[in-house]
Amino acid sequence: MSATPQLSVVIPVYNEELNLPTLFARLYPVLDALGRSYEIIFTNDGSADRSFMLLQAQHAARPDVTRVIDFNANYGQHMAIMAAFERVRGSIILTLDADLQNPPEEIPKLLAKMDAGHDYVGGYRLERHDSSFRKYASRLVNLVRKQTTNIEMTDQGCMLRAYSRPIIDAIVRSGAINTFIPALAYSFSGNPTEVGVRHEERHAGVSNYSLYKLIRLNFDLITGFSLAPLQYFTMFAMACSAGSLLLVLILAYRRLFLGAEAEGIFTLFGVVFFLLSVSMVGIGLIGEYVGRTYQVVRARQRYFVKEILEVREG
Ligand code: UDP
Ligand code: MG
Repeated sequence: MSATPQLSVVIPVYNEELNLPTLFARLYPVLDALGRSYEIIFTNDGSADRSFMLLQAQHAARPDVTRVIDFNANYGQHMAIMAAFERVRGSIILTLDADLQNPPEEIPKLLAKMDAGHDYVGGYRLERHDSSFRKYASRLVNLVRKQTTNIEMTDQGCMLRAYSRPIIDAIVRSGAINTFIPALAYSFSGNPTEVGVRHEERHAGVSNYSLYKLIRLNFDLITGFSLAPLQYFTMFAMACSAGSLLLVLILAYRRLFLGAEAEGIFTLFGVVFFLLSVSMVGIGLIGEYVGRTYQVVRARQRYFVKEILEVREG
């Protein structure tokens, strides 16, 4: 195995036993045909199926270019990618999903852009094959992200991306937690570009992303990159305060000049409930940031590697 290959391909794997054989069969020929030295780093993210066995066998079959990191438990796609980033040796790093939704045959397109001098190439899915719910949800979160962060990305969900080594080193140094890697990479990039890539149906199995996980990921994306939610909330809370003040003044005026009134009690309830819910949202939002701060301050080991399969140089 070369100590400094030209290309490192990073693939997170979680319960992909049905996809791995096809992935191997399609990915290796593409990379072999590039005429560049390369390595592939698979991270087994605590799979409960035979994924690790398949990865072991693949490592035995192609020890020259295959490295496998084995987590003791499931830490999520982004942690799996991070662990590989900390160990990459290549000067161009490429990320790819294991489920063949990003066709390996599209890799040369990204490399061509890298060769043209870009330090970040994001893929966007030309014709997306996902449920319409996922597509609409994506559109919504894209809109929110645009409003709250300055990250420009046509398709934040596409993990077929290429990065130059200095960007990956910067990501590793930032020690980011719960982060959305493509967005972090974008913020370090000096010359980013995008390229359209084909998108296929998941080859087999079902998506590992539940609605809950997707919501969490997007919370992380927004609170991890911007204070805008806090600032918007403060503005909104100020508008609510102004409205409440106006109401108090009107009620005081009526009390002084029209005398005591008992009506309007339910209006009052309405107003109180509304303000109460506003403060609850505020507390939740602050909690989100405090939680992130806590995780960074605590600086606990983010994942545990059980084993690494690799052949060392010499
Ligand atoms: N993945 C992972 N850990 C997880 C969930 C997913 O390593 O906890 C991997 C998974 O094996 C796949 C990639 O991340 O290679 C994308 O996952 P998935 O296809 O489930 O997401 P979707 O395409 O639906 O966004
Ligand atoms: Mg997928």
